[in-house]
Amino acid sequence: MTTSPHNDFYPEGKAVTCCHMCRGQQLRLVLDLGLQPHSDLFLTAKQLNEPLSLYPLRLVSCLDCGLLQIDFLVDPRILYQKEYLYESSITETGRSHYNEMAKEIIEKFSVPKDSLVIDLGSNVGVLLEGFKNQGLKVLGVDPASLVAQKAIERGIETIIDFFGIEVADTILKTKGKPKIISGTNVFAHIHEIDSAVEGMKILLDEQGVIVIEAPYAIDFIEHLEYDTIYHQHVGYLSVRPVQKYFKRFGMELFEVEHVKIHGGSLRYYVGHEGAHLLHPSVAEYVLKEDDFGLYKEEILNLFAKRVQKQRIDLITLLLSLKKEGKRIVGVSAPAKGNTLLNYCHIDTGILDFLTEKSKLKIGRFSPGTFIPIHDDAKLLEDRPDYALILAWNFADEIMNNMASFKENGGKFIIPIPYPKIV
Ligand SMILES: [Zn+2]
Repeated sequence: MTTSPHNDFYPEGKAVTCCHMCRGQQLRLVLDLGLQPHSDLFLTAKQLNEPLSLYPLRLVSCLDCGLLQIDFLVDPRILYQKEYLYESSITETGRSHYNEMAKEIIEKFSVPKDSLVIDLGSNVGVLLEGFKNQGLKVLGVDPASLVAQKAIERGIETIIDFFGIEVADTILKTKGKPKIISGTNVFAHIHEIDSAVEGMKILLDEQGVIVIEAPYAIDFIEHLEYDTIYHQHVGYLSVRPVQKYFKRFGMELFEVEHVKIHGGSLRYYVGHEGAHLLHPSVAEYVLKEDDFGLYKEEILNLFAKRVQKQRIDLITLLLSLKKEGKRIVGVSAPAKGNTLLNYCHIDTGILDFLTEKSKLKIGRFSPGTFIPIHDDAKLLEDRPDYALILAWNFADEIMNNMASFKENGGKFIIPIPYPKIV
């Protein structure tokens, strides 16, 4: 069992003593990534002179339901309300994925025009825009005011708040029951998850569908996506724990579907108990997870060993290039990049700078490793020898956009699952 982090040292959060979903008390340590800052807290020049809070970042598994999760929760007001700079529409791959997703859902469940769709963690409103284009009424809920404001400016009505029973009540009174409640890459972020699910239950139409999309734990283990562990991601979803969890609320996971985005995600379809036909995919995935050994100690220990080896290999590669006198920079500055940089201790001694597309991040510094962030254009102007792609899930798009870097002799390094030069 784990010894949980000492609360007194970290007043901005709390150590977890039971499972995020099933409340089981037996949590086993899988991987310790050390002390890490809030991975979305890209620092301004002024903030470089201020103290930076670090929090324990450890992956544990619940012995009761099998959910992989972290065992220290940073106060969500710190995580989302201060400086949350992730914009989901920033990549072409992301945008077309969400547009497609909206179309697929409408078709799959024959959602009539003028129905209400609510998106939780709606960010800048990309998914809702997809629904709106198909003639549906849309409403977003997101506590991150910087990005939610952008959605509002683009004509997507958004409630700036954490979703729970209270917000659900307000929506019910003013807008009625939605046919679809969606949450992409948000379900595993919610701290007060019971209140959120109770809110969904109150709100959802009798025949309505909750659509959750989240990185899939098997892909996460197989592709060694340990950098996606950070304090915003409370849990790493898989079918068995999700199925068990919704049962507790009189709801039912009735279908699952695998999608490619974010290094392999799973889409979970949930409805009121008995409202939808139970699709065979649910049982198939439960079996698949057992066959894979997702809930077995030895498989998870092996994962931790592979992560430790990846770190040694990546640092060795970068240091040997430095020794040859090569110049290396980082391309893209996603939150996950900060887990990788901090865990591998990669700072300005190795990377001269990072480049980014997001205007919100340009001019800032990576938290904990303090690497300056410039516009993507600087990669082509400066022509370093190597560029480490931190948003490896969008590697193809990034390499396409920056094809002239390679044409001029530069090389890309993709760090995950194993470091490779391309
Ligand atoms: Zn559990």
